[in-house]
Amino acid sequence: MEKGEEYNSTQVPPKDCLRALQTPLRFLKGVGPKRAAQLEGLGLRTVEDLLYHLPFRYEDRRAIKKIRQAVIGAEESFVGRLVRLQKRYIPRMRRQLLTATLADDSGSLGLVWYRVRPYMMESLAAGRTLWVHGKVEQGMGAQKRIVHPEFEALESGEDEGEKEKIQPVYLRPTGLPMAAMRRWLELAVAEYASFLPSFLPESIARRQGLIDLSAAITEAHCPQKSADPASLNRFSSPAHRSIIFDEFFYLQLGLGLRRRRRAALPGIRFTGAGRSLTQKMRALLPFTLTRAQQRVVEEIYQDMEALRPMQRLIQGDVGSGKTIVGWLAALRAIENGFQAVWMAPTELLAEQHYRNLRGFAESLGLGSALLTGSLPPRERKETVRRIETGEISFVVGTHALIQEGVRVPRMGLGVVDEQHRFGVLQRMALQQLSRCGEPALRIAQGPEFHRRAEPQPDILLMSATPIPRSLAMVLYGDMEVSSLDEMPPGRTPVATRLFSDASREEVYRLARDELGKGHQAYLVYPLVEPSERVHLRDATQMAEELSRGLFKEFRLGLIHGRMSAEEREQVMRRFKEGDLQLLVATTVIEVGIDIPNATVMVVEHAERFGLSQLHQLRGRVGRGEDRAHCFLVHYDGGGPDSLKRLRVMESESDGFRIAEADLEMRGPGELLGTRQSGLADFRLANLARDSRLLFEARKEALDWLAQDPALSRKESRALREVLKQRWGKRLQLGGVG
Ligand code: ADP
Ligand code: MG
Repeated sequence: MEKGEEYNSTQVPPKDCLRALQTPLRFLKGVGPKRAAQLEGLGLRTVEDLLYHLPFRYEDRRAIKKIRQAVIGAEESFVGRLVRLQKRYIPRMRRQLLTATLADDSGSLGLVWYRVRPYMMESLAAGRTLWVHGKVEQGMGAQKRIVHPEFEALESGEDEGEKEKIQPVYLRPTGLPMAAMRRWLELAVAEYASFLPSFLPESIARRQGLIDLSAAITEAHCPQKSADPASLNRFSSPAHRSIIFDEFFYLQLGLGLRRRRRAALPGIRFTGAGRSLTQKMRALLPFTLTRAQQRVVEEIYQDMEALRPMQRLIQGDVGSGKTIVGWLAALRAIENGFQAVWMAPTELLAEQHYRNLRGFAESLGLGSALLTGSLPPRERKETVRRIETGEISFVVGTHALIQEGVRVPRMGLGVVDEQHRFGVLQRMALQQLSRCGEPALRIAQGPEFHRRAEPQPDILLMSATPIPRSLAMVLYGDMEVSSLDEMPPGRTPVATRLFSDASREEVYRLARDELGKGHQAYLVYPLVEPSERVHLRDATQMAEELSRGLFKEFRLGLIHGRMSAEEREQVMRRFKEGDLQLLVATTVIEVGIDIPNATVMVVEHAERFGLSQLHQLRGRVGRGEDRAHCFLVHYDGGGPDSLKRLRVMESESDGFRIAEADLEMRGPGELLGTRQSGLADFRLANLARDSRLLFEARKEALDWLAQDPALSRKESRALREVLKQRWGKRLQLGGVG
């Protein structure tokens, strides 16, 4: 192969390959419409889906032992004749028990099944030759046995050697025999794997020690006899690594491309030359910045000084001090003669930010304003006018900013607080506020959006959900990310304790004690209303019950996601003003709101929540002087793992480390909520397990783009094709290819 040529085992053009892989599964031999529907239940619709349906486990069946040599405690394989088969009903266990004896020329072995499935009986009949595999135990008497062995009936005349291999084990639709699943996969691999070349540049494949994707998929389904079962089972075999790298690489290529395109737009240079405001501000600060804050401010200033438009995300725990960092960025824009706009997801939050920052603005002699939907029309008109004349250089607001024709002619910086609460379109709209006439949201939607040539304002996004670096590379791979990974000094962590369902009353009593001292408390439930499907406590009923019972003498409110945004805001406001003492809620309670008097967070059915989610909830208390408490009530049914998981909350208060644990134990979907995790939806790759490969893939993708920024060279042709097909829509890459 010549240098620079695509690493590609077939000569079929990429487009045709991609088309062949989209063949519906009902066209695969032996599948048919009924089986195809069953497979679709597992999300397997096309041949490509099936090829990526990799074994979740491998069984080493290469060594077949004589029964006499069976070692207790070892996982072994035997081949013998089924000499006895007995089905018995055990009244005490209220179930059927199936026992059998397997014999070879050296001895006999007991087989036991406590669960008998109808399809099993098809291959189990006395006299048949059987291959079995499983952990050998000491049975009754002298005989050794295997409970629930894997087994397969061997056809008469079938070569035993045939079975001596590393067998793949698949997740499969209920009632479908493993053998059928294996057969289809073998067929799919034989007929279609060759359409799956990775098209990775050869130089990258060589450097990373990768094999071609079609070879990798083949090997992952049908490992050679010489393969290492341990590395297969760890998903770290060369085949697995190659498939995972391939997945990461294209996503990173797409994200890198998107970032480059944005960076190519003209931005504004905000220099530190004047520095009058930022300098004065340092003197006004009531505290010294943490080292993390200093570092992040520096990162932001460097971005702002560059000509390309900034797109940077600051992530940091609740209370890590994002506000002041955003404010210092705003001042850098303003001292360069521009305006800064700050957008928050709710009126309450906007008001809070405005209240916190207005004082600073006044001391520095800056005009500032709050712009929300509930401003009286006259006042609103006046504010909009003063923003247009430039009299106001700092605006805090809600969606109202982008929805209603507000114009910020000298907009230099947009700050988006709690960025995950806004859509892509809304963030784009924020950048359009300097344009005249129409509401920015409409401009962002319209076709002319892409034809702008004016300088783009810088954008700073803020998020209180810390996520691990690997996940950030996937979700925010097209922007810069700064982490505020250090808390301001003097914070006492929220005292967190785990309680079992049985000691619920004690939790309520502890909460009552705090309310008695004049504090406020949250009580969180996983459900809004009772559900027929799951037996859980819900917010609505508990609010009823508690307001009539245990918490009768306290003022109690209810807040949940089925209420309108206005209703929720009303309740939140009453709680903030102290009008309500106890707030019964689902997870909707506002993230960034400061209510220093709230000292208790109770979460019932804590086992139903992710750790990061619990950490977020816990972050709503502990903002005042007084010691705050978080009580997690744990119900049965979560299993021992769930208890172990929850214990992390008792000992850990660092959101980054909690997110790390969450990612490892439950995956990105649980960590973020499924709505946000779209980009992290990999077929095989796992962000916790494969983060090293992700870093490698990212580096390679960015290096490649550095050589060929628009993927316009001949060597990049196939890459573009695959990229377009896999990520074009999701990454809105429009013009690739
Ligand atoms: P968040 O990151 O959740 O938005 P805030 O910006 O609201 O956090 O900051 C939380 C609190 O910590 C505020 O009261 C703020 O004044 C205070 N704070 C921020 N930075 C520091 C610091 N370096 N030292 C002491 N207190 C700080
Ligand atoms: Mg905040």
